[in-house]
Amino acid sequence: SAKVIDGKLVAKQVREEIAVEVTKMKDAIGIVPGLAVILVGSRKDSQTYVRNKKKACEAVGIKSYEVNLPEDSSEEEVIKHISGFNSDPSVHGILVQLPLPRHMNDENILNAVSIEKDVDGFHPLNIGRLAMQGRDPFFVPCTPKGCMELLHRYGVEIKGKRAVVIGRSNIVGMPAALLLQKANATVSIVHSQTKNPEQITRQADIVIAAVGVANLVRGNWIKPGAAIIDVGINPVDDPESPRGYRLVGDVCYEEASKVAGAITPVPGGVGPMTIAMLLSNTLESAKRIHKFK
Ligand code: NAD
Repeated sequence: SAKVIDGKLVAKQVREEIAVEVTKMKDAIGIVPGLAVILVGSRKDSQTYVRNKKKACEAVGIKSYEVNLPEDSSEEEVIKHISGFNSDPSVHGILVQLPLPRHMNDENILNAVSIEKDVDGFHPLNIGRLAMQGRDPFFVPCTPKGCMELLHRYGVEIKGKRAVVIGRSNIVGMPAALLLQKANATVSIVHSQTKNPEQITRQADIVIAAVGVANLVRGNWIKPGAAIIDVGINPVDDPESPRGYRLVGDVCYEEASKVAGAITPVPGGVGPMTIAMLLSNTLESAKRIHKFK
């Protein structure tokens, strides 16, 4: 059966490595990396994500700055705060927690973040650079970057391999496909309009699933020995669990783990990697801005 790709463990290692580097940087040049987080409105899930990001920063010695704006703020108000952080030398990363309230245009807001501080990697120019040959973005979006990091740390060869990404969202599927292509895989994208998705997926040496449909990918979709990265986080009813539900991925783990060569569990796979990559992007930014090797 498949080797388990332990995202929880890798994320812990990454955070420890970051903590060491943050200390080195502080000792050598007196600079502490800083991350600014802007939250608009009071969605409970967004508040939790922001709190977790701040806690993760603290744990590795990154300074965090938080702005909370009311739900009915104007785009101009949000952009005013972004501009302030753009020119604040103690801030190396700026993150606008999504989703934004409906009256706001995401693109206007994301465009306002300096591409050199865009640690989420969502600025259209960073995405554009990711898509271009011979160019590199300042930052790669955290979840797909986490998927790639897991493949690298588990020694999965990418060059010349066939990869299938299921899902084409701006935050996961699309950038994941671009990254695999940059790493010299031959990439297909399977999405909601794809015919015979199982047939296409079965050709893949590497599968990244980012759909949001519980257990969509069955065992017979998988080529024996393939590496499976399951980004999906889907609640399913479970009367035996104290919360009444449990979380499963987009891949039917029970079936897939009998066929695959390596697979991420849900939870404990990609999930913990996302925040670790945010910390990594913030450190990278501070190093680049201060020319610290
Ligand atoms: P999304 O809803 O924005 O995109 C889903 C994509 O899947 C779309 O491109 C759509 O075309 C495709 N799709 C829908 N139904 C399909 C089907 N039946 N077959 C093939 N493709 C289909 O979702 P997202 O933001 O990309 O997130 C996907 C999943 O990953 C969700 O479960 C989400 O909770 C999870 N997620 C996890 C992390 C993390 O681990 N940190 C981060 C982001 C998202």
